[in-house]
Order: sequence, then structure tokens, then C-alpha cells
Amino acid sequence: MRLEPSDPMEAVDGALQVVGAQLRLENVSVAVSGGSDGLRVLCRQDQLEQVVINLLQNARDAIRDRRRSVGVEYLGAITIEVSQAQDENRAPQVLIRVKDNAGGIPENVIDKVFQPFFTTKPPGQGTGLGLSVSFGIIRDHGGTLSVENAFEGAVFTIRLPSMQDSQ
Ligand code: ADP
Ligand code: MG
Repeated sequence: MRLEPSDPMEAVDGALQVVGAQLRLENVSVAVSGGSDGLRVLCRQDQLEQVVINLLQNARDAIRDRRRSVGVEYLGAITIEVSQAQDENRAPQVLIRVKDNAGGIPENVIDKVFQPFFTTKPPGQGTGLGLSVSFGIIRDHGGTLSVENAFEGAVFTIRLPSMQDSQ
């Protein structure tokens, strides 16, 4: 695999170029906060972008479902947060968090979402592969992809080893 130091913000921007128009069309607001602050991740940018696209598409699907059950007064919102952290050996990491307000993932489902072919979507609407492929991509880059439920919805966190941009 050819790895190049890349700005994680570019993967986020790239993903938004792919799914942003559709999210706007569906009245889903997207807010991006934070920044990579000169940190670079060693990864294939197209692959990281694909992971962010998968997470955004899942958030969109969950928001659609939520809207169907609670009605039009519900406003779908996605936030993407880019920040830095350190791993247990104090090595720098970049975190990309994708959070929605669609109500979260049921307890009996959350442990299975990274399994290949696991889906709660009707036949033809989900392959159940997006998260397992995403998990593999991030793992192959020495990082982790994890999920938790927050107050309003699901939060997916990508953690990747990073380095300071040398230029
Ligand atoms: P697919 O989207 O084809 O179903 P994924 O691997 O992308 O496959 O996701 C697996 C399952 O994880 C989904 O079917 C859904 O049940 C759950 N899921 C993923 N993201 C979210 C989310 N943001 N909110 C609620 N459930 C989610
Ligand atoms: Mg999916």
C-alpha cells in the first residue's frame, strides 16, 4: 500500500463533496469543527475519504428513518469534528468524529455493526459491508474505528496515528 502524509481535513472535504449535495437536498445540516493543525496522517487519502463517506451515508440513512417516524419537525443534523489526541504512549493521533442526531444504535445491535453483512436495512437498501470495510481500512492504517451512543445519536470515532507536517 502506498502511504503518503495527508491532511485529514482533505479527506473530510472530499467526502463532503461526494455526499454534501444530497444531504442538503434532504435538509440535513452538516457542521464541521476543529482542524488538523498541521498534523498529517499516513494513509491513502481516497481510502480515508471512503470511510468518512460511509459514516455520512449511514448517518443520512438513520436520519431518514428517524424523520419517517417522528415527522417533519425533526431536523437532521450531522457534525464532523477533527481534533488531535495522544495514544497511551503519547504518540500523536488525529481523531475524526462523525455524530448524528438520529437517536443512536439499539443496545442489541451496537456490538454487531462492524460485522460483515450485518444490516438492519431492508433488502436492496443495505449490504451491511460499509462499516466492516471501514473498520478494516482504519485498522490497516494502524488506527481504530469505534462507535458509541451519545445523547442524541450515534458517534463514530476514527483514530489514526499522525505526525507533524515537516514543511
Ligand atoms: P448498511 O449501511 O449497508 O446497513 P453498514 O455496515 O454501513 O451497513 O452499517 C451496519 C448497520 O449499522 C446499519 O444497518 C445500522 O443498523 C447500523 N448503523 C450504522 N450507522 C448508524 C447510525 N449512524 N445510526 C444508527 N444505526 C447505524
Ligand atoms: Mg452503510
